[in-house]
Formats: sequence, structure tokens, C-alpha cells
Amino acid sequence: MDVLARLGVGSEADTALARAELEAAGLTNPRKTRISPEKIPRVEEVLARAFVLLCAECAAGVPADGRRLIAVSASACRRCGGSAARRSALRLGGAGRRLRVVVVGGSAGTRSEIDRQLAPIAELRQVDGTARWTKERAAADHAWADVVVIWAGTELRHKVSMLYSQIPDRGGKRITVAKRGAAALIDAITAWAARREAESGVRRGRAPGPPGGRACPPPGTAGGSILGPTGPRRG
Ligand SMILES: [Zn+2]
Repeated sequence: MDVLARLGVGSEADTALARAELEAAGLTNPRKTRISPEKIPRVEEVLARAFVLLCAECAAGVPADGRRLIAVSASACRRCGGSAARRSALRLGGAGRRLRVVVVGGSAGTRSEIDRQLAPIAELRQVDGTARWTKERAAADHAWADVVVIWAGTELRHKVSMLYSQIPDRGGKRITVAKRGAAALIDAITAWAARREAESGVRRGRAPGPPGGRACPPPGTAGGSILGPTGPRRG
């Protein structure tokens, strides 16, 4: 059935289940093989009540809500739409309150992607690593932020990154990310947030969770790396 395929429903078994639901809603009947495209919004609505259409990565991270899972390709996923940056942002958004995030470096393209993904869940300041910048502005950003990300290996002048990296970081709020791409950047912030959450739990004397099952942040995309060479690098 064209419409179901277009919505990402692929396997025969899932198609049969979805069809049964649509028949019950009077949107098609067993004699019809096709559904007209103008019915798509209604079809989506009916399917959304009974099914959740997710890609494999999203399906692994989303708790069951009683609806049946239909596995779809990432581009058809109702949650991430195939965007790794969106998946990362959703993980971060699930972590709690709105973080204040300063990103130092990146490109115009990554800045708009990060803005798109993080604006709904975080307060964001992005610093153009090729612009003129002052010590005072860097200090103000550092003071304001929950987390300051130095994005090494992007369009980031040594002069600008130094303004941030020379500030004493007593609160453990600064991380250096060496991986490229908006998704990697957001993943690093998510890992930082998880680490921070675990630490504050320990400080408050909270029980460390089930034996052997204490949550650890995912292996680092953040921290510990050395800043890239001076001057901007494209990418
Ligand atoms: Zn997805």
C-alpha cells in the first residue's frame, strides 16, 4: 500500500497490522489496495493512536507507552526524522532543566543546526571563533554558563579559544570537544550533563542506584583532549 510505505511502514506484518487499524477506522476496506493521498493526515492520526513509528536508535531509548512499535527507517522516524543531532538533543532535553550552554567555535552551518536543535531545551550562546573577541566577554560567558564547550578542530582561532580556556574552571563547567558535527557536540554536552548529574547525586548522598547498575555517562566524546593547532581549520 503506497500510503503506508510512504509513512515508513515496511514489513508485511506491520503493513497488515496497520491496515487492520485503518479498516477498523473506516479509512479503507479489504477490497481496496490503495488509499488516496488526501487521506494521509487522517491515516497518520489513526496510526498514531495505535502505533509508534520509530527508527531503531530511537526505539532503544524511548519507554513503552502501550502503543505497538513499528520499526521504520530513520528518515521516517516520528521522533528524530533521521537527524543524529536531533536524537542527541532529545537525549539532552530528557536530562532535566534548561542548561545554559556556551559553544566556542563551529561554523555558520553547525551554529544554525545547533541553534535549531538546542534552542527549545537550552539557553544558548554561540561564539564565532573567527570573530574579534575580548577577555571580558569570555569571562561574562563563562560566568553565565552551566557548560562551556571549546570546539577544537573547527573554525576557531587560538586567540579566541585561549580567552575561554585560560579562565580558571573551578566548577568543572568547561569541556573540549574534538569531534566534528552538531550531533557530536550535543552528545558531548549530554555526556557532561550525565556526569554532572551523577556527581551531584553522590554529593547529596543519594543511594548510588541498583547494585552493579549505576549509570555511567557514555564513553567520552568530551574532555581531556588537547586543543587543535592554531588558526581556523575548515570542515
Ligand atoms: Zn529516530
